[in-house]
Amino acid sequence: MSSKKLRVAIIGAGPSGTSCLRAFKSAQEKGQEIPEIVCFEKGEDWGGLWNYNWRTGLDQSGNPVHGSMYRHLWSNGPKECLEFADYTFEEHFGHPIPSFPPREVLQDYITGRVNKSGIKHWVRLNTAVIGCTYDPSSSVFTLKSKHNTTKDEVTETFDYVITCTGHFSTPNVPSFEGMESFCGRILHAHDFRAAEEFKGKDILVIGTSYSAEDIASQCYKYGVKSVTCSYRTAPMGFHWPDNFTTVPLLTRIEPNSKKCHFKDGSTAEVDAIILCTGYQHHFPFLAPDLQLKTANRLHCDSLHEGVVMIDNPKMMYIGMQDQWFTFNMFDAQAWYARDVILGKIAVPDKAKMEEEWKTCRVAEEAIEATDEANIRYQANYVERLQGFTDYPTFDIEGVVQAFLEWEHNKHENIMTFRDKPHKSLMTGTMAPVHHTPWMKAYDDTIESYVEGNKQ
Ligand code: FAD
Ligand code: NAP
Repeated sequence: MSSKKLRVAIIGAGPSGTSCLRAFKSAQEKGQEIPEIVCFEKGEDWGGLWNYNWRTGLDQSGNPVHGSMYRHLWSNGPKECLEFADYTFEEHFGHPIPSFPPREVLQDYITGRVNKSGIKHWVRLNTAVIGCTYDPSSSVFTLKSKHNTTKDEVTETFDYVITCTGHFSTPNVPSFEGMESFCGRILHAHDFRAAEEFKGKDILVIGTSYSAEDIASQCYKYGVKSVTCSYRTAPMGFHWPDNFTTVPLLTRIEPNSKKCHFKDGSTAEVDAIILCTGYQHHFPFLAPDLQLKTANRLHCDSLHEGVVMIDNPKMMYIGMQDQWFTFNMFDAQAWYARDVILGKIAVPDKAKMEEEWKTCRVAEEAIEATDEANIRYQANYVERLQGFTDYPTFDIEGVVQAFLEWEHNKHENIMTFRDKPHKSLMTGTMAPVHHTPWMKAYDDTIESYVEGNKQ
């Protein structure tokens, strides 16, 4: 590194941002000189969307609520697939725990690793990045941040920026004829908080991905009267309980009523419409030339190795892909970004990056339309990244097999897959079975899930 200490801004202290913090700390622990790190987090604490916020609309500072997390959310995939390779669940909790932790348990695990590193002082909490530009003549970013309570604004310069602000915050909200006069409630999954609200109600869920399947399942668990699942491309294909109906896309709602019409001519009267129609990548705090513009896909537009912005390699993004792998993929990306900044990895010139990007896009577009093919594409990506750095290697094929078992269990019974245990690829330990089946487990506190499963 040059004699002038580099400055690195990390925007966001969720799982992706904390992976970056951990990556730099790990290099420092190995005696390497690291840049000055400043992590900006607009929330009151770190942990990203795992930090539950009951609010919808605006947060306590008047900014749009970041989180799409809901009160009774439990991990949708086995924890064994997201486990950090350098910090296991067993190390964190002191004993094995079951495979599908509620959100509070996962939040404790994510923040536990960085808490242990003593690096919270790198994070400026309650501080939102409100502007960021890049000057090619000086190769420097000018970043503007604002404190939520004091409203103080600070402008400073950085040599690198890593954007870790997530992409499941800004809802994609389609409109359907008749919505204006629908005589019930319409909400996007982003604003869904507690399934109890829909007890005894007839609901319509639009969309077929994770929000749709989990919100529908949650509402069933908490006593919904009926669920109508509406799909645009293909139905979810699970064996749903008897009070579920699957229909093609909503076409219109009769004026001043609760009556919905679907593409196949069928109709349903519902009390609420929950739009599980995904999210948009949205970075209004960055200058237009720094904003990532991409759909939610495995190989994002504009990024080399899914991390480095091809048009400006000093700008990086973590966690912007569609996600099968999560926390350990963010780690692999963070270690990669760190080593680019530390000068250990040389990114190729722009023409070569573009050529490599195209090769990956061709491969992505050729993926068979099966979950296995998609999982394997992302597994190969994580493995490739891991090969560049000293992030601990782990059994990625084992993770793929755990994903496939999980998929099998979901298709066998969507209401019981969370009762099945999986084996840690990091420790080899088989998880215990939770003391209460998910359908009957209304206590999702950390005490119940962690202490209650101590053997
Ligand atoms: P986030 O967790 O969204 O964190 C981004 C952080 O950036 C936030 O703290 C935010 O406050 C901060 N920020 C944003 N803008 C600014 C700004 N301008 N200035 C400063 N700070 C800013 N994954 C799983 O593995 N298992 C699950 O069960 C699972 N469930 C999910 C459930 C829901 C409802 C959603 C939406 C996602 C779920 N995910 C799950 C996927 C999720 O994307 C990851 O688990 C993870 O939270 C992504 O981390 P991140 O740090 O990239 O983004
Ligand atoms: P997503 O995976 O991006 O899926 C978006 C869905 O919206 C797709 O089914 C898509 O249908 C549909 N859609 C988009 N536009 C539409 C339109 N105009 N009309 C009808 N349908 C439309 O988003 P997501 O389901 O919200 O998931 C986001 C993330 O949250 C994922 O990472 C997931 O793991 C996470 N999550 C986890 C849990 C949990 O249980 N832990 C719960 C919720 C969410 P097409 O197929 O037709 O495009």
